[in-house]
Amino acid sequence: MTTQEIRKAYLDFFVERRHKVIARAQLVPNNDPTTLFTGSGMQPLIPYLLGEPHSEGQRLVNSQTCLRAQDIEEVGDNRHTTFFEMIGNWSLGDYFKKDQLPWFFEFLTDVVGLDPSKLYATCFIGDKANGIPKDTESAEVWEKLFKAKKVDHKQVEIGSEADGAKKGLQNGRIFYYDASKNWWCRAGQINNMPTDEPGGPDSEIFYEFDFIKHNPKYGKNCHPNCECGRFM
Ligand SMILES: [Zn+2]
Repeated sequence: MTTQEIRKAYLDFFVERRHKVIARAQLVPNNDPTTLFTGSGMQPLIPYLLGEPHSEGQRLVNSQTCLRAQDIEEVGDNRHTTFFEMIGNWSLGDYFKKDQLPWFFEFLTDVVGLDPSKLYATCFIGDKANGIPKDTESAEVWEKLFKAKKVDHKQVEIGSEADGAKKGLQNGRIFYYDASKNWWCRAGQINNMPTDEPGGPDSEIFYEFDFIKHNPKYGKNCHPNCECGRFM
């Protein structure tokens, strides 16, 4: 599939699931003094994620052009770009994990045609200090989805990236990482989050390029959040 076809398939997939396609925001935002460029699909939607009603309803889908400079020195490796498009579907107080994860999995496997045995999921391990529980709900959804595709679905506790290098894959399919990997917010870390900042545990999916050999420069063992390039 070309990038044009992937974008169209994604938008169509979510329109079939009662989403409205919204226009992309300007690359140079005219009403956000915190940033020079639109850097993510989420950025123009922040007021609505914080509760302001959106004129197109509670289910939105978009393809947002983004420009980022913070990792510009890393451009040229196998995963960093400065100007790119981010496709996203948005639930403004409507559906949650039980719909989102199966839809995304269906899109990747049945629409794009990725081999489910090359996919690996990650979930939040929990944070005792802040009283945030382990995200077993997402892991259970992933487990069912892999099972339905007749793919092994073992859950493995990792923790940090350094823990991953020590522990390795352990024949796992669903991996629990700490807040350094599976906590989403603009400040990056739970403890740095300003009051009223949107954020929380996230769940991610990785594709394994099995022809790329793990580079021991990144630690003894490979794991989904390893930086060697085997997992994206
Ligand atoms: Zn690796």
